[in-house]
Amino acid sequence: LVSRKKKPENTIVNLKGETVGDGKQHFVFGPCAVESYEQVATVAKAMKEKGLKLLRGGAYKPRTSPYDFQGLGVEGLKILKRVADEYDMAVISEIVNPADIEMAIDYIDVIQIGARNMQNFELLKAAGAVNKPVLLKRGIAATIEEFINAAEYIMAQGNGQIILCERGIRTYERATRNTLDISAVPILKQETHLPVMVDVTHSTGRRDLLLPAAKAALAIGADGVMAEVHPDPAVALSDAQQQMNLDQFNTFYKELLASNLVR
Ligand code: PEP
Ligand code: MN
Repeated sequence: LVSRKKKPENTIVNLKGETVGDGKQHFVFGPCAVESYEQVATVAKAMKEKGLKLLRGGAYKPRTSPYDFQGLGVEGLKILKRVADEYDMAVISEIVNPADIEMAIDYIDVIQIGARNMQNFELLKAAGAVNKPVLLKRGIAATIEEFINAAEYIMAQGNGQIILCERGIRTYERATRNTLDISAVPILKQETHLPVMVDVTHSTGRRDLLLPAAKAALAIGADGVMAEVHPDPAVALSDAQQQMNLDQFNTFYKELLASNLVR
């Protein structure tokens, strides 16, 4: 169902008026994790000033260590909804439990399925059974074929509003947190009719690489870019090393626009 052979024309996923897949590029920013109303609202305000309306933030955080911050759960979803209503934004947030999907769709605009859950087939089926856009991230060690099959699981249940997101894969290379598989973008665009985004934060894990990675993503045909922004990354409860502060975000976005790669 996701194959370009079945449907030659691009799928456009409408996120409160942002039509991802329309040939223009769309940008998703926001903190790694929702920590407080003030924290999310501060980032939302900075985005709003730039005319950006796709806000991310995790309420359920799949952390490597069980002793790390696990997210605010439904309280986090409520904060996202409040900010989205006040700033007229569309909210993207990861859901990790199939049983939470029905509840979560009252609070969020896009269900994110994270890298660690790309082959959680019950979660894919649950997301496929509701009428809500899904942002599906590539698994940490997933081949492109496995990634496409994960999207197929969602679409097979009836939900075709899917955005694919390349977020780096695990390789032997340690200079970056993951290895950004940039060629996955045109391959996914050729093989499927779905929009493709690139998460430059989790793929590189390095602030100094966010801008060049974003430029590469746009140059190679991505429909959008995702990056993490936090009012004060040094005290962030997750991914403190790689989130941009508001000044860095301003510079990042300004330089991206100045690159002439943004349509
Ligand atoms: C995230 O986007 O918050 C996240 C945890 O990313 P990933 O699933 O790609 O690691
Ligand atoms: Mn993160």
